[in-house]
Amino acid sequence: MSLPLRYTVFPERPESHLYRVTCTVAQPDPSGQAFALPAWIPGSYLVRDFARHVVSVRAESRGKPVAIEKTDKNTWRAQACAAPLTVTCEVYARDLSVRGAYLDPRHAFFNGACLFLRPKDLESSACELEIVRPRGAHYRRWTVATAMERAGAKAGGFGSYVAADYDELIDHPVMMGELALARFRACGVPHEVAIAGRHRADTARLARDLERLCEHHIRFFGEPAPMKRYVFLVTALGEGYGGLEHRASTALVCSREDLPSRGDAHVGERYRTFLGLASHEYFHTWNVKRIKPAAFTPYDLDREAYTSLLWAFEGITSYYDDLALVRCGLIEQKDYLELLGRAITTYMRAPGRARQTLAEASFDAWIKYYRPDENSPNATVSYYGKGSLVALCLDLTIRARTRGRKSLDDVMRAMWRRYGLTGVGVDERGVECIAEEVTGVELERSFDEWLRSTRELPLEALLEAHGVDMTLRPAESSSDRGGKPAGSKRAGGLAMIGVLARADGDETVLTHVLDGGAAREAGMAAGDAIVAVDGMRVGRGGLDATLAKRRAGETVTLHAFRRDELLEFRVRLQAAPADTCVLSELAGAKGRLLGRWLRGSRG
Ligand SMILES: [Zn+2]
Repeated sequence: MSLPLRYTVFPERPESHLYRVTCTVAQPDPSGQAFALPAWIPGSYLVRDFARHVVSVRAESRGKPVAIEKTDKNTWRAQACAAPLTVTCEVYARDLSVRGAYLDPRHAFFNGACLFLRPKDLESSACELEIVRPRGAHYRRWTVATAMERAGAKAGGFGSYVAADYDELIDHPVMMGELALARFRACGVPHEVAIAGRHRADTARLARDLERLCEHHIRFFGEPAPMKRYVFLVTALGEGYGGLEHRASTALVCSREDLPSRGDAHVGERYRTFLGLASHEYFHTWNVKRIKPAAFTPYDLDREAYTSLLWAFEGITSYYDDLALVRCGLIEQKDYLELLGRAITTYMRAPGRARQTLAEASFDAWIKYYRPDENSPNATVSYYGKGSLVALCLDLTIRARTRGRKSLDDVMRAMWRRYGLTGVGVDERGVECIAEEVTGVELERSFDEWLRSTRELPLEALLEAHGVDMTLRPAESSSDRGGKPAGSKRAGGLAMIGVLARADGDETVLTHVLDGGAAREAGMAAGDAIVAVDGMRVGRGGLDATLAKRRAGETVTLHAFRRDELLEFRVRLQAAPADTCVLSELAGAKGRLLGRWLRGSRG
């Protein structure tokens, strides 16, 4: 069998982080075949220009070299030649993130978007991929993990794989190495967890917990599951956090401490974070990989694909990621309320929520969310964070106005039937229309406020109506992320200057100066390195320790370096505002509504 497009990927020089990749076109364009590498990878909305990691390119046909030249930053064109045409690239790979490609003698991971040339106008052709084992005895125990369909390769082996078209080819990331493996079935579908990197995880427990989670998601949208198999590709590092969704797999980067340890049956905060990430990416299997914005059907990989709908695809997914954990019993109700309290706290602390709407945040993801700077907290709002809270408001509004007969769950299942199963893209107002249609609730004014204005969300009233008390208290320290009641009764509250900062030796460097804060008022700026408070060195305890002894209303003198110039500021300390959210269950009749919301319903 010879398919129209044949690729090989060879981890040729792991110690130099170099892959050798070939693409053979059976019937090249007679006027000269063009090839391009994607400018971005679906799921991560930033132009990354993967072509910048291409070290060399050459072309040949029937053993003879063919001239090939670049026509723009991501595109090459080969001279007209006889069939078949093979292009060979050397690609540098040292990006450990979920959206990149990585290779060293310890392990390898790649997204096809980083390695595989896309022959123009042949995107819909079937592809074959040969994954070649690196040379040398060192690599004898390496295996391959990917959700791509096997052709000649044995399970977990090097060899031949196939994809229906280019889009599918680059939607199956591949991991190689001496991988730890765990397997389970969810609703009959084989699932696999492959872990690269050193760790001491209890993989049997991981498989058990993920099985429960995956079955919950599959049943939420309705059996059968849309994929034949599914693979979690996990890179465990000292520190790290990230995930990228695909139609039959996900790439996750986590801290090895986030994985469950042997002999521990408890879901601690770190493992809860990992489960939340896995839940998020798995929910995307439906919501964004199959229910997609019209702007992504098909993906235009040469340039930005603008949509105001990321609030729905990332926000709704963020809402259901933790909600699924409590609904399937992996965490308890109080844990869920803590997580939700934290999400509200993060939102309440971003002054930018009064400047940027959720629709704008989605549309400008390409230049703002993915390119944050020192002013981001003042000027932007997260479509993940606010998006998840809008999903919460939407769900609770529907539940309240239909007396619990309908919910966001029904909207998501209707989206699945109308868009997911058909492959029709969701147009820019599609989510709003289907939500009204399915529930019979008039939502136009609410959507206008939540998506297209910066008005505050009606969180407190909606939560109250569902049996949850929401209170806001001042932060107790800069590491207080909310979700928990105050630990100490501190007279006068924490004194603060309204900044985000990082310690740098004996200095405290301001990373962000928040609008409306004391530091802003006093003329301080991001980048200022505070060396002394009232003439005394800040020291390794940091600004927090120094200010802990002060009270709001006091004025302090700060000395800070701006670049190499020493400046003096008089700063009047503020009391920490009540922006730290704590949620608790209300006693009484509303408990039933809370139970229904957190237990979920199966449509
Ligand atoms: Zn996501």
